[in-house]
Parts: sequence; structure tokens; C-alpha cells
Amino acid sequence: MRDFSPLLTAQDIEDKVAALAERISTDYKDKDLVLVGVLKGAFIFLADLVRKLTIPVTIDFVWCSSYGQGEASSGNVDRIAGIRTDIAGKHVLIVEDILDTGITIRELLVYLESFTPESIKVCAFIDKYERRGIDVKADYAGHRVEKGFLVGYGLDYAEKYRHLPAIYELKT
Ligand code: 5GP
Ligand code: MG
Repeated sequence: MRDFSPLLTAQDIEDKVAALAERISTDYKDKDLVLVGVLKGAFIFLADLVRKLTIPVTIDFVWCSSYGQGEASSGNVDRIAGIRTDIAGKHVLIVEDILDTGITIRELLVYLESFTPESIKVCAFIDKYERRGIDVKADYAGHRVEKGFLVGYGLDYAEKYRHLPAIYELKT
């Protein structure tokens, strides 16, 4: 059994999601906003976030994978499924569970920019900055950590623990 060290409780998460939703609702008031969730990890965060927004939005998903079964990014991002929404001329907000090296977001920015949206920004629930090698930033971040492998609230280890309502650091 791996050792789990608690990082954020369900209440901490709710408070941080509410704060993000308030900022996003203000910043995108009267704008045509499309949220693009990154599957699988962002499914819970996106579901919580949209229910706290006070502005109308539309929702789409991309399906990306870079980790495989381990704890270290493979460095290659597989995009398994793309968007179905016409985002030309619209404002896009990418919704990610965690921003780590930035490789996934960099790939997604190139992909989404090809559809000529009006703007693209990034909302990551966790901004994990130690391994950020490239110039990608979270415009909206729920919580910043330096390092550590996190699970729960959508984040998995070999497909386990996504369902946990709190976030833990997995100790080795
Ligand atoms: P990046 O491409 O920025 O290195 O990594 C982004 C993706 O790697 C995230 O969407 C997530 O799927 C995965 N990832 C990065 N750090 C963690 C972590 O601490 N825990 C888990 N479960 N996944 C992570
Ligand atoms: Mg992810």
C-alpha cells in the first residue's frame, strides 16, 4: 500500500474552484466562451467549475494522454480525440487537472490555434511548476505546488484514485 499524504481536502477544493469560477465569470462576462476540458483528468474539475460559473458557456473536450502507467511524463502527447465545436472567433479556455512540464498544453495550444479562436487561455486546477521546461503558463490556477505526484479529484495513478474527492500526494 502506497503512503498518501493529504494535500487539499474536499472543502479546500470547493473554495478554490469557487474563487476561480468568480474570476472567470467576471473576465468573460458578455463573451462567447468555450471551455475545452482535457480528458480524462479534468472531468471532475470541469464539472465542478461550470456549476459555479455565473455566465453561459459551451463545453467540449479533447482527449490527451502523456503519462501512460507511470509517474513521469513520457514527453509525447497523444491526442486521441479532438474538439467537435466550431471555435473560430470564440474565446477558448482550456481546463486541465494539472499543469506540469507544459508539454500537453503546448501541443493543445498549437492544435486549438489552428481553428482561429479569438483568444485561448489556460485554467489548471493544480499548477506544478518545478519541471516546467517551456514557456507555458496557467492564466488561472486553483493551487500552486512545487513538485510531487498527486492523485484524487480526477488525477490517477495507473487509472486508480481518480474518484477520490480530496487530493493527496503519493509518497514513494
Ligand atoms: P504536462 O504535459 O504538463 O507535463 O502534464 C500534464 C498531464 O500530466 C496532466 O494533464 C496529467 O494528466 C499528468 N500529470 C502531471 N502531473 C501529475 C500528477 O502529479 N499526478 C497525476 N495523476 N497526473 C499528473
Ligand atoms: Mg491530464
